[in-house]
Amino acid sequence: MPTLDDICPRPDELPPQTTQPHSAPIYLTSVWRCDDPRQADDMLGGRTPGYVYQRDGHPNADLFAEKCRELHHAERAAITSSGMAALSLALLSQLRTGDHVVASRNLYGKSLLLLGTEAARVGIACSTADTCDLSTTAAAFTPQTKLVVVETIANPLLQVADIAALAELCHARGAKLLVDNTFATPVLCQPLTLGADFVLESVSKMMNGHSDVMLGLLCGRAADWERVPVALSAWGLASSPFDAWLSSRGLATLHLRMDRACDNALRAAEFLSHQPAVARVDYPGLPRHPHHALAARQCGGRFGSIVTFHLAAGRAAAEAFIRAARRIPFCPSLGEVSTTLSHPESTSHRALTPDQRAALGITGGTIRLSLGAESSAFVCDALAEGLRGMRIVP
Ligand code: PLP
Repeated sequence: MPTLDDICPRPDELPPQTTQPHSAPIYLTSVWRCDDPRQADDMLGGRTPGYVYQRDGHPNADLFAEKCRELHHAERAAITSSGMAALSLALLSQLRTGDHVVASRNLYGKSLLLLGTEAARVGIACSTADTCDLSTTAAAFTPQTKLVVVETIANPLLQVADIAALAELCHARGAKLLVDNTFATPVLCQPLTLGADFVLESVSKMMNGHSDVMLGLLCGRAADWERVPVALSAWGLASSPFDAWLSSRGLATLHLRMDRACDNALRAAEFLSHQPAVARVDYPGLPRHPHHALAARQCGGRFGSIVTFHLAAGRAAAEAFIRAARRIPFCPSLGEVSTTLSHPESTSHRALTPDQRAALGITGGTIRLSLGAESSAFVCDALAEGLRGMRIVP
C-alpha cells in the first residue's frame, strides 16, 4: 500500500476520454512523460512531432500560433512571451555581429532601445530613418544592412508605412523587411501578402484585447525559419500556456472588436476635429491625414483604433482633460475592449528630449486615444465630458 506521502506527488495517467473537450484545455505542465529514450530523442531532435519541455513548445502556443499563421497568410508562426520577445526573436534568429539594421524613427520606444542601445552591445548597428520617405530610407542603408524594421501604423501620429514599396527597396538591396503590425492587426493588414518577410504583433494589445496578457507573435516564411525555434528555446523567449489560452479566446472576437473600434475611432476623430480646444487631430481615416490614401488602400478602407489629438493649451489642458474625462481611464497601453487614453509626453515618449518630442510632433497637450467596443455615443459623450471639464464647452 502506498503511504499518504507517496500518493500525491506522483501524477496518474489521465482518465481515458471518448469525447474531446470543446474548449481547449490549458496545458499547465512544464514537462511531458516520454515512453522511452528513443521517443524523447526523436522529439527533441525534431524528427517526430510531440512535446517534451514547455520552453521548446506547448499545445496552447501551437493552437494560437496556427490561427495567427492563417490570419497572416504565413508559412510559419511563433509565439513569444511578449511583443518585445518577438522582436528579440527576429533579431537573434536572423542577425549576427557586424550586421546593420535600418529602423523607422517612429518605432515604439522600447523597440528603438532594443535595436539601438541593446543590439549595439552584441555588435549589431542600427540607423534610424523616416521610413515614410523612401529615398531617406535608401540613404540609411549600408553594405551590412540585413533588416529594415517599420510599423504598419506608427505611434503616436499614426504615420502609415508603404509596405509594398519598402519590401521592394529592401529586396533590391539584399535586406529583409520586418513589419510591426500591432496597431493594424491582421484584420486591417497582412504585411506578408504585401511583400514583407516578417511580421510581428504585440498580442498584449488588440489581438488579445482584454489587458490581461503579455504575449508576442512572429510570422514569416519557411525559408527564413531554420533558426527561429532554436533561438526561441535557447534565449528563453517562450510563452506561457495560460497567456496563449487567453489570447486564443481574445482572438475569437478580434474582428468584431476591431470593426467597432475602427468605427468609434473615425467618429471620435471627426468629433474632435470640430472642437475649438483641439489644435489638430491625427487619424489616417481623416482625408487630410498625409497617408489617408495609402491607409485606405493598404488597410481595406479601415483606419485603425488609435486616434491622437493635440490640445491647443498644452500640458495643463491635457492634465485637466484627463482629470475630467472620468469614463476614459488613463492607461499607458492600448488595444483594450474599452476606450482608454494615454499621454505620450509623460509615458511612451518621456525618455526623449523636448526637442526630439517636438520633431515627432508631440507636445504636452498630445493625447492618444485607444478606442474600444462601446457605442460611439458613449465615446463622444465621454470626450465631451473631458472637454467640458477643461471649461471649454463643445
Ligand atoms: N510594438 C508596439 C507598436 C507596441 O506598442 C508595443 C508595446 O506597447 C510593443 C511592440 C511591445 O509589446 P509588448 O508590450 O507585448 O512587449
